[in-house]
Amino acid sequence: MKETEKVLKKKLLIVEDNQDSRELVIKILRNRDYQLIEAVDGEDGLEKAIAEQPDIILLDISLPKMGGYEVAENLRLREEFKYTPIIALTAHAMKGDEEKALHGGFSGYISKPINVRELPGQIEKYVEGGRYKVE
Ligand code: MN
Repeated sequence: MKETEKVLKKKLLIVEDNQDSRELVIKILRNRDYQLIEAVDGEDGLEKAIAEQPDIILLDISLPKMGGYEVAENLRLREEFKYTPIIALTAHAMKGDEEKALHGGFSGYISKPINVRELPGQIEKYVEGGRYKVE
């Protein structure tokens, strides 16, 4: 990859313990303008976020070691993540999660199962919105 391409690509961190879901997201976004980083549980997600400073984070709610809400809460405490789009991945069955996510440090949510055709647009909506503070 050329240096200029590296600069233009947004870094996207996907934190998802389910391998199939994680690989699906990566497959959908592979040919788009993202540099993809993967984390497999909450602790891994927090560590990779701090180390890699992603521009956008897709964060599963239900994760081993540290849940999505706790990861989001920890990230929002850090100055560098105050404006970063952090999008919750919520299971359809967990209806209350969507409302809760909007009050829990997340910028928004994307419902699972992931819609292959809609995902890129759903993410772009947050990227275009830029970095904004979530109270
Ligand atoms: Mn999960």
